[in-house]
Amino acid sequence: MPSTRAAALSRWPSRLAPWLASGYLALLTVMLPLAPLGASLLFGRLKYLRDYLGFIRRMRVHIAALREGPARHYFEDVMGRQDKVPAEIAGSCVQCGNCCMNKRCVFLEPIDNDRYQCGIYHSPLRRWSNCGSFPLHAHDIARYACPSYHVVRVVGRRD
Ligand code: SF4
Repeated sequence: MPSTRAAALSRWPSRLAPWLASGYLALLTVMLPLAPLGASLLFGRLKYLRDYLGFIRRMRVHIAALREGPARHYFEDVMGRQDKVPAEIAGSCVQCGNCCMNKRCVFLEPIDNDRYQCGIYHSPLRRWSNCGSFPLHAHDIARYACPSYHVVRVVGRRD
């Protein structure tokens, strides 16, 4: 039955998301000693290699923050599902750093006391990350207390 099959397919992200998130976090943890090298090559920034131990220290904080929900959110809500976003959202970023895992992202860089910038904003890879999709919906905005973005109109029901 096509409708039953479609319903089953629509449920796969929530079933697989915890496993995929655990696998991703385990991979990041195992690869931690190589993280500065990988990040430098991937994003074309030598500064991660130059501050090898500092990057690993910050990466530990980053992984702990991912473990609190963002890793699962990616596999459950973001990957391949951005087109099902149920809301029309307005606002513009004031660079507070809240949605960057509450300022714990390893790539976040301070501009001044209250503002931050993404150190890998230039990378096309960002497009497929949680960052590239933020904010997905009202919950996304609320959980990081984003001071700018807001839902203008709910477009449809979410799966
Ligand atoms: S929480 Fe909102 S305003 Fe702050 S950095 Fe993220 S998108 Fe920008």
